[in-house]
Amino acid sequence: MNHALIWLRRDLRLADNPAMQAALDKGLKPVPVYIHDISAEAGGAASRWWLHHSLQALQQDLRARGSDLLILAGESRTRLPALARACNADHIFWNRRYEPAEAARDASLKAALHESGLVVESLAGNLLREPWTLAKRDGTPYRVFTPFYRELQASTPVDMPLPAPDTLPPLPHALPASLTPDDLELLPDIPWDAAFPAHWQPGETGAWQRLETFSRDAMADYADNRDRPDLPDTSRLSPHLHFGEITPRQIRQFVEDTLRHRDQPGLVAAAESWLRQLAWREFGHHLLWHYPDTAEHPLDRRFENFPWREDPAGLRAWQTGQTGIPLVDAGMRELWTTGWMHNRVRMVVASLLTKNLRLPWQAGAAWFMDTLVDADLANNTLGWQWTAGCGADAAPFFRIFNPVRQGERFDPDGSYVRRWVPELAALPPKWIQRPWAAPADLLHDAGIVLGEHYPPPIVDLADSRKAALSAWDRIKSRG
Ligand code: FAD
Repeated sequence: MNHALIWLRRDLRLADNPAMQAALDKGLKPVPVYIHDISAEAGGAASRWWLHHSLQALQQDLRARGSDLLILAGESRTRLPALARACNADHIFWNRRYEPAEAARDASLKAALHESGLVVESLAGNLLREPWTLAKRDGTPYRVFTPFYRELQASTPVDMPLPAPDTLPPLPHALPASLTPDDLELLPDIPWDAAFPAHWQPGETGAWQRLETFSRDAMADYADNRDRPDLPDTSRLSPHLHFGEITPRQIRQFVEDTLRHRDQPGLVAAAESWLRQLAWREFGHHLLWHYPDTAEHPLDRRFENFPWREDPAGLRAWQTGQTGIPLVDAGMRELWTTGWMHNRVRMVVASLLTKNLRLPWQAGAAWFMDTLVDADLANNTLGWQWTAGCGADAAPFFRIFNPVRQGERFDPDGSYVRRWVPELAALPPKWIQRPWAAPADLLHDAGIVLGEHYPPPIVDLADSRKAALSAWDRIKSRG
């Protein structure tokens, strides 16, 4: 039986792994390899933390089945053919990536490997549908979510997820020495990641535990509670999905099975509302695939001329959760401490940055890419362009989130703010979202001196809103 390389990237799992399965189906012995290509795989600091632990978990899972994960560093273009020669493999399998740089790299690599006589197969592994298989009637890509979602739902049922192999053959002897995850130096020198392990368990087992907990404890309330950052009622599966530790196909199947076995009022509607969010992930990938320059440029070209401000101090205050606007600071501190932020709060902090502070969405997107454990070029681009009003199916520019009202509505007793901005903890719900307006004696009793214990707001919400709208007026009529 010959060997075949399985090049693992954003598919750090054993189950539902079409590349692995394709090798097994052909009677080939899989050699799972991860190549740390500094230029392509580096990712942000929080993603690197995740990657370290995810590689460790995958390595353990492979060892438990008799195989191992070979970890190499360098350029895939040179490492892959050399490795194929070393273990006498003439097949290489991988699951596709969709980000512009990675997709272009994979295409040219595939051609080069073919030319050198290797058989290369790239497979669909991480989305429900490949981005190029969905199109409007006129053949152009979707730019509006609802019709995209309708077609996604109506399109042929997705295949059943593949099982994980029970056992795998051992790796061949004639291989270059494997690095360890430690050798890749993915973990930070300064321990800002201290709180991460309490929040996350990277790897396939962690992903499934997360899904089971969510389905048992929170899915039934998802439709009602999904916008509440004070409640633990969203799945927090985003980093697991990003690293391919679990697939949307597996999730869909799991939800269908759950619905078959649990007869609970409202569960079907709640599950649908959750699966609809997963379709936003598909939409993000569809958009980035068809509009590859949107990671840097607005889809709505009028925004190339938007009068963005330059304000390094404002950007720093936003990044460090020191804007003086409690919901925003709570979100930015949650992000820094845990590598994740609730979706509702992501929209609020992005709106403050791009509209009230009028700083370019790319600056916010870059900070998110560095600090999120789920940093994902497709979803992040979609989220930032949507909030800034320059993307597909975006919130209209004039929809400027008021962070005080958002806080009062979605964090009604202030417990989210209290958790992440403890200096405001003694304020009652009525004032916790706007301490600057609280009566002086109340602030005094709560032990808060604005400007000393907590900053005054860096921007006047009403004035900055007006300024943003007039900036929008200047570009909106341009072609
Ligand atoms: P759930 O509510 O449980 O949803 C399940 C899954 O559906 C998520 O894990 C995610 O994969 C997908 N999903 C949910 N909402 C969205 C959405 N709006 N767009 C795309 N996919 C979605 N998501 C990322 O995965 N990576 C990012 O880098 C990212 N950046 C964002 C930036 C901004 C400014 C905004 C507004 C949103 C961003 N999102 C991003 C989308 C969303 O906030 C997260 O996917 C979600 O908060 C993850 O939490 P969850 O797993 O508990 O989600």
